[in-house]
Amino acid sequence: MHSPDQKLNAFPIFLKVEGRSVVVVGDGDEALAKARLMAQSSARLSIVAAEPEAELTEWAQKNRVPVLRAEYEPRLLGGAALVFAATGEEALDARIVADARRAGICANAVDRPELCDFFTPALVNRAPVAVAIGTEGAGPVLAQMIRARVDRMLSPSLGALARLATSYRQAVELLVPKGAPRRAFWGQFFTGAPARAMEIGSFDEARAAADELLARRGAVAGHVALVGAGPGAEDLLTLRAHRLLMEADVIVHDALVPEAVIAMGRRDAERIGVGKRKGCHSKSQAEINDLLVELGQAGKRVVRLKSGDPLVFGRAGEEMAALRDAGISYEVVPGVTAAFAAAADFELPLTLRGVASSMVFTTGHDLKGETLPDWARLAIAGATVAVYMGRSIAAEVATRLIEAGLSPDTAVAVVENASLAAKRMFHGTLADLPSLEERNDLTGPVMTIIGDAVAGARFDRSSALAADTRMAVAA
Ligand code: SAH
Repeated sequence: MHSPDQKLNAFPIFLKVEGRSVVVVGDGDEALAKARLMAQSSARLSIVAAEPEAELTEWAQKNRVPVLRAEYEPRLLGGAALVFAATGEEALDARIVADARRAGICANAVDRPELCDFFTPALVNRAPVAVAIGTEGAGPVLAQMIRARVDRMLSPSLGALARLATSYRQAVELLVPKGAPRRAFWGQFFTGAPARAMEIGSFDEARAAADELLARRGAVAGHVALVGAGPGAEDLLTLRAHRLLMEADVIVHDALVPEAVIAMGRRDAERIGVGKRKGCHSKSQAEINDLLVELGQAGKRVVRLKSGDPLVFGRAGEEMAALRDAGISYEVVPGVTAAFAAAADFELPLTLRGVASSMVFTTGHDLKGETLPDWARLAIAGATVAVYMGRSIAAEVATRLIEAGLSPDTAVAVVENASLAAKRMFHGTLADLPSLEERNDLTGPVMTIIGDAVAGARFDRSSALAADTRMAVAA
């Protein structure tokens, strides 16, 4: 819902004026400006002017717009679809508006918004395509500025391309299946070969390209993009991820990806949640692999949206293998991984000159085995360690690392909901880390960063991890 101050008091519509009469009343500049605007339409325009100024007469002659040299009378408005009161005389303009209303005609009085039934927009004309900009009179200069910008954005050949599209519409409806293929056809029509041909002014080439596209029935092979959604904040999404989301027919997302990020996709895109939040697997990895293959085979453009970076504890390897085996094209779009988001929240340098020059991404789950994993030695040698999915095994991680020789005093930073407004930050030492397991209030995803580099972080916004249970590990 929009709040009251976001509501438009004047709602834009496109009025059919083809062949209908539009009357402009006035002798001078204002009348000319409105006549010029209306002359961009196929309305039957006429001007009522008792003493038309030279410029108006000249313009009207050149554009073959009839000028009725007569004093204004209500009957002159008869049958009009729209009336413009542009006499420059307040009382007369008000009378014209009143007469128009009485005859059921919508009226506009120049520079008198309170008298207007409608406003005229700043117009970008690529007939049949039009962009109308309105500010409800708040800023004509602003409207012109926007108009200039939009004008630059749209190819001058857009109108011709749109007309060509109109001539294909029927054939496309007949030949190209509704849904994804038809959207793909038009997508390629307006951005692909036909558009490029039209831009260089070659109508025939554009037609040929459109024919070819039609012969292919707009067929596009399915495509799956494994896309990193970042740590949760919408504006940490990459521009590429955003573009792909806007183009996707289907969005397959994990539970960790917030609604706000998914909502950046096309509104009519199909959304499939595949869960995988700790404790409630709604689909197995094999089922997800199959789903992606099926969607790809059905010709869909799929975005497989994963939290953080898809290649960091994202099981992208299995999905890519399944897509490769099925011969479905795919791509990978990196995202901001949780460790980076947590480090940013903490202003924590992950590498620190003279202190830490390497970094480990781990889940810590491999610490459960008998043999110490290689990375433990790296940690002892000073590497910064980012622990994913580590809350439930915090004690194991701390104990094994301390046993292996890492100082219990090694600095630790913990961030729940990194990058999000609901983030919480904690600091402490390796000896404090086990307390994380008991913190049932941490319901969001948690990132733990261990290492001497953590000492370079900013601690005035974080709270102590576990002041009371400090000796839990040592004991
Ligand atoms: N591919 C993801 C990681 C998926 S594993 C990435 O690159 O970030 C899931 C784990 O990531 C969580 O258990 C948690 O440790 C971490 N994580 C994801 N989002 C997080 C966030 N906003 N804050 C803290 N940790 C997060």
